[in-house]
Amino acid sequence: ARAWSLKARPQGMPKHTDFAMIDLDTAALGAGEVRIANRWLSVDPYMRGRMNDVKSYVPPFALGEAMQGGAVGEVVESNDDGIKVGDMVLHMAGWRDEAVVPAAQVQKLPALDVPPQAFLGQLGMPGMTGYFGLLQVAEAKAGDTVFVSAAAGAVGSTVVQVAKAKGMTVIGSAGGAEKCAWVKSLGADAVIDYKSDVPVVKALGEAAPKGIDVYFDNVGGEHLDAALAHANMHARFAVCGMIDVYNSGAATQLKYLARLIGNRVQIRGFIVSDYMNRAEEFYKDMGGMLAAGTLKRQETVHEGLETMPDAFLGLFSGGNMGKMLVKV
Ligand code: NDP
Repeated sequence: ARAWSLKARPQGMPKHTDFAMIDLDTAALGAGEVRIANRWLSVDPYMRGRMNDVKSYVPPFALGEAMQGGAVGEVVESNDDGIKVGDMVLHMAGWRDEAVVPAAQVQKLPALDVPPQAFLGQLGMPGMTGYFGLLQVAEAKAGDTVFVSAAAGAVGSTVVQVAKAKGMTVIGSAGGAEKCAWVKSLGADAVIDYKSDVPVVKALGEAAPKGIDVYFDNVGGEHLDAALAHANMHARFAVCGMIDVYNSGAATQLKYLARLIGNRVQIRGFIVSDYMNRAEEFYKDMGGMLAAGTLKRQETVHEGLETMPDAFLGLFSGGNMGKMLVKV
């Protein structure tokens, strides 16, 4: 078995030379363990934070050891009564082709009529992030005008579609004409191309002449400032991510921050794990919308374990529409 390890802690934008493939022992299974042939591996922006040696809500990756991340695979050997050979499972021993993990750390895929990799995207961690971030953290409701950044990504494209399904007006932002057209096709009422020459603050003013009630932040920086500039009275911001600063670490200049006083704007950060105990409700609502065709699923797939760093780096250069995945 083989796995990717972190060879060096990246400075700024990660490079291919920061990663190295290592061989893993194919030891016999211990009591209660299962062996999984990974079929799908997830790359996610939060993994960039784990590459730094700093205290955070997830511990840093250890140098020279197999990295971790979301994965879906098929059980090929089992020492546990509850998990059978052939079961498809979700677990966190990703970045490798084969994983040996305690059965207690794997989850059988819920019985929903979707392909297995959907549990790494719209029906998985990113989908839950969009769903609960929008409906619980930002308390978005029918009639609200919602602005969402990185709207063509895994989380953002879920936010756009859930918001439309629940009767909201949606403005998305994404980089480039092709992505903007795709976000529009998901139902967004307006889409901003933040890579065009028009500043986001100006484009948002034109797209939302009556202001915004909710901002779902995936990006930070200029997007967050633009949202503050156009926030309505009692607007709610769900701060999900700030991908604009993950590599640069740059301080964000917020020209419009003081607007939150007069307009009583509420800004709340959150981590999706806060909502893991509500997975059943999520599967029911999202599963229903997927089955009814209300939601569209989109993936950008890299083929082969070797391509994993490419897929990961692509997250920071806009290489994906929908969920970025690696097919082993
Ligand atoms: P995406 O699928 O959205 O992929 C990242 C996208 O971000 C890229 O495709 C790119 O799209 C955009 N992007 C990259 N760099 C920049 C930049 N400098 N400025 C603007 N856009 C940029 O990833 P996810 O959906 O998985 O994650 C989206 C956000 O949500 C991230 O910030 C992530 O950290 C956060 N997150 C937070 C969680 C939580 O629990 N709080 C859980 C999961 C995700 P484009 O071409 O449009 O630039």
